[in-house]
Amino acid sequence: MAAWRAMERVMPTYVYGPRLKDGEKRTCQSCSGTFEMMQRMSDEAMTHCPQCSGEIERIITPPMLNGAGKYKTPSADRLSKAGFTEYRRKGKGYYEKSFGKGPTSIHGDGEA
Ligand SMILES: [Zn+2]
Repeated sequence: MAAWRAMERVMPTYVYGPRLKDGEKRTCQSCSGTFEMMQRMSDEAMTHCPQCSGEIERIITPPMLNGAGKYKTPSADRLSKAGFTEYRRKGKGYYEKSFGKGPTSIHGDGEA
């Protein structure tokens, strides 16, 4: 159980529900109603119930994934507009801002 809790922090929970055809009813314990499934963000959305293979669909997509391509990182412009700041390491303990708000450079200590 402890391991399960640790996983919760890094894996988002997705909500799935049955994709029912007209008049169809599920008796399956997993997909007769909505259920939650923890998956890595890179995992494909499930389309079939692992128990009964009935069709299911993902109901909620975490908002943080919206607009960002699956394997692409958002563009600098997009990140900047969203209020992010990026620093690139230029040397030992020295970081220079590539975009965003904040000081144009950071001198870290402890590493110099
Ligand atoms: Zn099922």
